[in-house]
Amino acid sequence: MMSETEAVIWEFIRRDLSPADFEQWVYSHPELEQFWGKETYLEVISSGFVQDGHVYEVRESLREWMERYIQRVCDCVTWESRQVLFEVIGSGFPEAKEYLASKFETVRSRDESSGLVSCKGCQQKWYFAISREFLDYYLLRLSEEQAQAIINDDKWPADFDDISYGPLKTSQTGGGNKSVRSVLQRLRVPLGFVTAAVFLIFAHPSRLSLIIGFPLALCGVAIRAWASGHLKKNAELAISGPYAYTRNPLYFGSFILALGCAVGGGNRWSGLLLLGFFLAVYIPVMQAEAEYMMTLFAGAYPAYARHVPLFLPRLTPWQPDSPGRQQSAAFDRNLYLRYREYRALVGLLVVFAILGLKAAF
Ligand SMILES: [Zn+2]
Repeated sequence: MMSETEAVIWEFIRRDLSPADFEQWVYSHPELEQFWGKETYLEVISSGFVQDGHVYEVRESLREWMERYIQRVCDCVTWESRQVLFEVIGSGFPEAKEYLASKFETVRSRDESSGLVSCKGCQQKWYFAISREFLDYYLLRLSEEQAQAIINDDKWPADFDDISYGPLKTSQTGGGNKSVRSVLQRLRVPLGFVTAAVFLIFAHPSRLSLIIGFPLALCGVAIRAWASGHLKKNAELAISGPYAYTRNPLYFGSFILALGCAVGGGNRWSGLLLLGFFLAVYIPVMQAEAEYMMTLFAGAYPAYARHVPLFLPRLTPWQPDSPGRQQSAAFDRNLYLRYREYRALVGLLVVFAILGLKAAF
């Protein structure tokens, strides 16, 4: 069984306990000096708990300390309150299913793809739901009251009601245009298809427009591919790779891709339609996501947002002060495959094959 002390320290490490509350807890528990040893204790109390970089460093060194000296009862004690299982166990659906069955007990099923489970190690209750899009397990840490509301009154959290639309939750984005945003988010894929069809029907490609448009569009695909290998969805704020230049390299890549298609299409009006659609849909989406990220990564996001533009990239990569942030900076090929980012390349080839046929006949 995990001690109360360990539980609180993990709560702070995984960002469920604010730096201020943790600081207060540390000061009211002088026995921690003995628990951590003098060096670590001094490091913690001298942190100040105000600056993002310092808080980050304390979290990381406590994480290291816990992993080294304390036998963990389970994995879930290290997870944030909202998790995609893939991001914490690093493998896909069949393994995730097996993992969940071995480490958790089902307390109550809601339907075939969601339910309430309890960790066999720490008894923490989690609500899980399987996304229809990627077959990912989404997990939500539940308070004792939330778990009881499910068990007694069949009252389920609404958090994952729309996970088939991806991890962005419109209900958490705040601001006044929720319904407009939510409609746009739901319609952006079908609307995109309609726009693409109109674009292709009215395109007047020439050899020259294809020669200029294709490499441009290919650059867009490359930017997206690069970004996908650095993106850990909600598990970690991505600031490496193209994320050091723009906060939205995936959308920026899509924009370059759309621009390349617009040029390749050779028809000014259908090109403008394509770009207009893109800006009308993605600018509100980017703003909503920025608000969401601000709540998800309240510690790290403000500094990131101050230095890295929302959309148009800066010329030099941003380097955060704390070197620890660079740890997961390498491109991860598995993520590229995982997000099925190769679909962008396939889409590009299909569009240019059609444009090529139109130019030839
Ligand atoms: Zn646990």
